[in-house]
Amino acid sequence: MIDASLRRSADVDLTDEQQDFVRSVRDYCSREFPPDRLATITSRYEDLHSDEVAQQMAGLGWYGLTIDESYGGSGGTFLDAALFLEETAHGRAPIGGYGVTLIVVGAINRFGDEEQKRDLLGRVTQGGGLAIAMSEPESGSDVASLKTSAAREDGTWVLNGSKMWCSYAHKASHILIVCRTERTGNPHEGISMIFVPRDADGLTITPISTLGGKETNELHLEDCRVPADALLGAEGGGWTQLMAGLNNERVILGATALGLAQRAFDDALAYAKERRQFGRPIGSFQAIQHKFAQLATDLAQARLLVRWVARMTDDDPNRMLPQEASMVKLACTELAKRCALEGMQVMGGYGYATEYPMERYLRAAVVTTIYGGTSEIQKNIIAKTLGL
Ligand SMILES: Cc1cc2nc3c(=O)[nH]c(=O)nc-3n(C[C@H](O)[C@H](O)[C@H](O)COP(=O)(O)OP(=O)(O)OC[C@H]3O[C@@H](n4cnc5c(N)ncnc54)[C@H](O)[C@@H]3O)c2cc1C
Repeated sequence: MIDASLRRSADVDLTDEQQDFVRSVRDYCSREFPPDRLATITSRYEDLHSDEVAQQMAGLGWYGLTIDESYGGSGGTFLDAALFLEETAHGRAPIGGYGVTLIVVGAINRFGDEEQKRDLLGRVTQGGGLAIAMSEPESGSDVASLKTSAAREDGTWVLNGSKMWCSYAHKASHILIVCRTERTGNPHEGISMIFVPRDADGLTITPISTLGGKETNELHLEDCRVPADALLGAEGGGWTQLMAGLNNERVILGATALGLAQRAFDDALAYAKERRQFGRPIGSFQAIQHKFAQLATDLAQARLLVRWVARMTDDDPNRMLPQEASMVKLACTELAKRCALEGMQVMGGYGYATEYPMERYLRAAVVTTIYGGTSEIQKNIIAKTLGL
C-alpha cells in the first residue's frame, strides 16, 4: 500500500523519470525523518518548518522545481511540484512553509520583473521562503473587502493596515502584501501586490497560537515604506493577478492534503492489520474493511483529480480552471479530514493518544478545509460554474 501513489490505477501516465523522482523523495523522507528525529527537528511538532531541511532539499534541486533554470531552478513542471508536495506531506517532511512559497513563486513567474525573478526566485532555489497576506481581521472569504492600503510617496510605497493568518511570514524573506492602492466603487479594482521584506521598519509580525503550532501570524503595517519597484505586476491589477494564480494555489493545497490523507490511511491500515481483538486482527471485521475500501477509492479519485488539473495547468498555464481547481481543493482537503478522523476511529484510544501521530494528522487536516478558501467557498465556485 505504501506504493499507492505509483500504482497503475492512479498513475495513468507518469513517466519513468517522474516515478523515479517520486521514489527518491519517498526514500529521502523515510530515511531523514524517522519519528525520533522528526520530533527533535520540529521541537516536538511545534515548528513544522525547518530552514535546514529546506536548504538540504534545495541542495537536491527540489526547492526550485517550478523555477526556470536561468534563475537557478530545476525547470520542472507543475505536475512535478504536485508529486513533490504529495510525497513530502506523506513523508512528514518538516517544510510547512513550502506550499505558500510555491504559491508566491507562481505569482512571480507570471508577473515578476527580471530583478524580482533574479532576487526572489534565486532565494527560493537556495531554500528560502516567501509568504502572502490577503486575509485581514474583517476580510476572510470576502477577499475583495480588504482594506490595507498602499500610497505612493517620494518614489516609495507606504503601507498601512492589519493582516491576519499570514502563514510562515516569520520564516519568509519577503511577504507579498495584497493591498488597496486606489478606491473606486468596485471592490475588485484598485488592488495591488507589493513585496515587503520581513525585517522592514513599520512591519510587526505576531504569532497566532493554533492547533497546528507555530505556523501563522498577524501582521501590522504602520507607515511601512518600501521602494516603488516592490510592486508585483500591474498597479491596480491585483485582483486579476490573484485569479490567475488560483489553479496553482488550489492544486498546491490539494496535493499537500492528499499526501496527508494517504499518510493517515497508511498508518491506520498498518494498525488494523496488527491490532487484535476477539482473537483476530481488527482489519478482519467487515465494518473496518469497508472504511478502508471507501477511503482507498476516494484517494484514487482525488489523486487522479490532482494530476489531471496539474497537467492541464502545464499544458496551458494561462487557462483558468475555476471548476476543476476548486474540485481539487474541496475533494482533497475534505478527504484528508475524513482519513484522519476514520484513522483515529480505527485506532481507538491509541489514535487519540499523543504517543501516536494520528491526532497530529487530524489537527493538520482540519485546517485544510478552512485556508485557501473554505469548502463552502469552493462549493459556491463550483455551483457558479454550473450556472447556479
Ligand atoms: C492556519 C491558517 C493559515 C492561513 N494562511 C493564510 C495565508 O498565508 N495568507 C492569507 O491571506 N490567509 C491565510 N489564511 C486565511 C484563510 O484563507 C481564511 O481563514 C479563510 O479564507 C476563511 O476566512 P475567515 O477565517 O475570515 O472566515 P469567514 O470568511 O468569516 O467565514 C466563516 C464561515 O462562514 C462561511 N462563509 C463565508 N462566506 C460564505 C459564503 N458566501 N457562502 C457560504 N459560506 C460562507 C465560511 O465557509 C466559514 O465556514 C489562513 C488561515 C488559517 C486558519
